[in-house]
Amino acid sequence: MAGLIPQDFIDDLVARADIVEVIGRRVQLKKAGREFKACCPFHDEKTPSFTVSPSKGFYHCFGCGAHGTAVGFLMEFDHMSFVEAIENLANSMGVEVPRNESDRPARRYDELFDLMSRVERFWQQGLRENPQAVEYLKQRGIDGSTAKRFGLGYAVDAWSAVLDKFGTSPEAIDRLLAAGLVIRKDNGGHYDRFRDRIMFPIRDVRGRCIAFGGRAMGGGEPKYLNSPETVLFHKGRELYGLHEARQALRQIDRFVVVEGYMDVVALARHGIDFSVATLGTATTADHLNRLFRLTENIDFCFDGDRAGKQAAWRALETALPHIREGRQARFVFLPDGQDPDSYVNAHGADAFIRALDDGLALSDYLIAELAQQVDLDTVDGRARLAELAKPLVARIPQGVYRELLIESLAQTVGLTAGKLEKVLGRTQAAGHDQSVRRRPRRGPSLTGSAGKPSVVRRAITLLLNHPEAAAGLDVEKIAGLSRPGIDLLRDLIETAQQEPNITTAGLLERWRHDEQGRHLGKLAAVEVPGDEEFDPAAELADCLGQLALAGRRERIDFLIEKQRVNALDESEMTELRQLR
Ligand SMILES: [Zn+2]
Repeated sequence: MAGLIPQDFIDDLVARADIVEVIGRRVQLKKAGREFKACCPFHDEKTPSFTVSPSKGFYHCFGCGAHGTAVGFLMEFDHMSFVEAIENLANSMGVEVPRNESDRPARRYDELFDLMSRVERFWQQGLRENPQAVEYLKQRGIDGSTAKRFGLGYAVDAWSAVLDKFGTSPEAIDRLLAAGLVIRKDNGGHYDRFRDRIMFPIRDVRGRCIAFGGRAMGGGEPKYLNSPETVLFHKGRELYGLHEARQALRQIDRFVVVEGYMDVVALARHGIDFSVATLGTATTADHLNRLFRLTENIDFCFDGDRAGKQAAWRALETALPHIREGRQARFVFLPDGQDPDSYVNAHGADAFIRALDDGLALSDYLIAELAQQVDLDTVDGRARLAELAKPLVARIPQGVYRELLIESLAQTVGLTAGKLEKVLGRTQAAGHDQSVRRRPRRGPSLTGSAGKPSVVRRAITLLLNHPEAAAGLDVEKIAGLSRPGIDLLRDLIETAQQEPNITTAGLLERWRHDEQGRHLGKLAAVEVPGDEEFDPAAELADCLGQLALAGRRERIDFLIEKQRVNALDESEMTELRQLR
């Protein structure tokens, strides 16, 4: 989101912009039904596959996959920057872009960075003055020099320590809000976000503090609390400890991705300087791009419990398109109940490194995981394994790595590699979403038999195409569910509810600066039926219902499983009874 121009102005501008006029001034458009067509200006073609939809405010090329809004088109076609494109659009519509001195992004960013570093020092001072917090860190095995290296601090147990110190004027409070350091109350007052917590500064590659993670010291809930997304902080992009690792190591031979900042700090305390943690999100493609730029070897280290296994599988799925010869991804599961922090403290650095070295190679993990879901002793089971592997193999780029994986799979299912390749079909090269290439079918169903999209994906597609359908949805229904893309779905629903007039293009522009924005563009290009019988609101509500139901089933399974191995506590028993 641009700091320079107010978001509501951008929303409004994008909603009102006439994309047909904007593109029509540069490319010869022909009307075709409700849309307009042209030969694509971004790739060479003889038959037009470039489509402009005035109702969505969106263009899309079925040939090369180019897509975007009026703003995006100006940026691509005329090579404008985002701000230039907004200005150009505003100009052509005869409106002035609101801006004033204090909104200048450079200044605003500088001010926010400056604020973050002052708050960081304030909390470091807080740690020095609080023997209890120091003692707590010592008990967790963290010495003074490690604490200093990571800039750890302590936020006192008070509602307005930061507010009183840094929020002395309305402008100052605005900055605290923008930096995610205070929270606004319903009655208009404010209070500190972080209280009675050990504070971990989260830094960008240049070492500037862009966010904080806070670990509750006592029994406070939640145990871990992070800064919200702000103009400085996009959690899907940042990795805790990356800056510190690059400071400590001249050459990075490997990275180990762990789940928490406490793990990173504990490992560093034991001389393991190459660990990084995601910040309350699954591993994203952005994360992997960053890491693979610095090293060829990435180990993923997870707890051995169910949540850890789920996170590992998601990491594998994200890693597939990044895997090629020379690159190595390994999956390491610590014994149940252990995390890297407790493991390294109990067994030492050498044991931890050995655990990493004993990790499962991506291909072995993939096969082992799938093999668990089928009965390999039967022909059916082996065929099923090949079926399960098919979409996964398709995401790995063509090359030696993929060939080797197919060979191992062939061995597991007892076929020759050649035969298995036939079973796998002509798997397309990874890196391209097939939906871009395939012309979307007309018809009421988005769930075609080929490459069945998930319910989340379907809901996002519906929502992008019919933002107005979000109005009556109950987001609470899918609160607490974990599934790829569900956070994005929630955010989209909330945005569409808060901005009832937002268009497809408006939603895309909101997510322009987000890694996920790219995927949204593709989904917005899916043709959703526009006839009268089709009720997007009902369809969406149905998707949410399906998700909620599946979530409930998973929770029941989880509780039953837990009951079998462990025992349920009082509240879990009640929950299970109610769920059933
Ligand atoms: Zn094209």
